[in-house]
Amino acid sequence: MLVREQLAKSEYEKLLKKVQDKVSEIRKDSTSRFELPKVDIMWQGNRTFFRNFSEFPKVLRREPEKILQYLSKEFATPAQLAGDKAVFVGKKEPHEFTSLLTRYVKEYVECPMCKSPDTRIEKSNRVHFLVCEACGAKSPLKGQYA
Ligand SMILES: [Zn+2]
Repeated sequence: MLVREQLAKSEYEKLLKKVQDKVSEIRKDSTSRFELPKVDIMWQGNRTFFRNFSEFPKVLRREPEKILQYLSKEFATPAQLAGDKAVFVGKKEPHEFTSLLTRYVKEYVECPMCKSPDTRIEKSNRVHFLVCEACGAKSPLKGQYA
């Protein structure tokens, strides 16, 4: 009898542990960092073709021109859109794009309150606000590439 009770108890604990694991897994998912697509580039002469550029504005829900302006300014190099691609003067490494885009996300996409990337930009009286669709926070944006 005692043995059976102990067994039942340990089964129960195991189950409880499983449930707790599951819950923390779900929590982890909902607060997980935003994942950017992998940067795909190609070099030709002294130009860098950012081949899957168009994926980024889609994922980030921002205007391609704004993101391009941001990259161009940060690289201090001219850039232009060519279909789904973006073309930059000079040879850039994929990790340079990745780190700039990660910064762009922090500055213009991620909600500063809850870190959700589900945000949109609202403009009122020449001030841009980042409006979070997850928590409702409205934060002013300081940068000029909103
Ligand atoms: Zn939020």
